[in-house]
Amino acid sequence: MSDTLVLALDIGGTNARGEVLDAGLGRPLASASLPTPYGDGEATLTTIERLCGQLMDSLDPIDRGRVRAVGLGVPGIIEGQTGVVRLASNLGWVGTPVGDRLSERVALPVHVHHDVTVAGLAEHRLGAGAGTDDLVAVFIGTGIAATIVSGGQAVEGGLHQAGELGHVPIVPDGRPCPCGQRGCLEMYCSARAIGHAYAAAIGRPGATSLDVVNDLGTDPRADAVWAEAIDWLAHGLMGVITLLSPSRLVLGGGLSAAGDTLVVPLRERLLALAHVATVPPIVTAQLGQRAGVLGSALATFRRLDVASL
Ligand SMILES: [Zn+2]
Repeated sequence: MSDTLVLALDIGGTNARGEVLDAGLGRPLASASLPTPYGDGEATLTTIERLCGQLMDSLDPIDRGRVRAVGLGVPGIIEGQTGVVRLASNLGWVGTPVGDRLSERVALPVHVHHDVTVAGLAEHRLGAGAGTDDLVAVFIGTGIAATIVSGGQAVEGGLHQAGELGHVPIVPDGRPCPCGQRGCLEMYCSARAIGHAYAAAIGRPGATSLDVVNDLGTDPRADAVWAEAIDWLAHGLMGVITLLSPSRLVLGGGLSAAGDTLVVPLRERLLALAHVATVPPIVTAQLGQRAGVLGSALATFRRLDVASL
């Protein structure tokens, strides 16, 4: 096994988390997290620089010398392997050369990855996808995004934008999405959309998807909102399984914490809808919040040509 270490970071809209990992991806040599400033690109870069500094400071001098790169998982549109972030609105980056800018500050090569793509890669190698080489991992939280693993490789697409399932239009001229399109899937069944639907149904602003899950079986309005969301999600996933025929469907992100409350009715709805595609086993993600960091490490070791799990 190589003695190379990487700083693997996952930059979320709320927190930036980081670990120092070797290619075995076992116990981290160090870990840290910092709150992410909202929508301020410069401040976000400074936060990441500080996070890298904290991680390096907690290593002994020998291990510090083994660190060869920083891997960064980012919620946004990434320009291939250039390190340029075309758009990450929560982080305040628009056409920002994040890789180069950060590399100057931390004096290490910086590899920028799409957060969901690498989280799905981690679930494939280390979590709920282990044992299969063809799967789709769908992460449902504030938005919806997917990782496609085909033949053991995460599919980025020739234009590096594969997996934006949440922005597949599912309703012609439907609800407007902040992306500029109408009728996007995530406007109907993301955790945020489900919370908004329940807030409107019960007249309580701020209600969340968790409130819906907690009220199932006791408030018929929760039952109705949940059933409608499951129906939308099933229709969205029908396209995925019909087109790709994955051997496993992994559900991650905040909504997947609902477990069987989500999986069982979703599977029933898919079985009722599908006459062409075979509905694969549906399982929930296993790595939780560590998926992003582990995936960032996996993708970075691959860029460095260092064999890892
Ligand atoms: Zn959209």
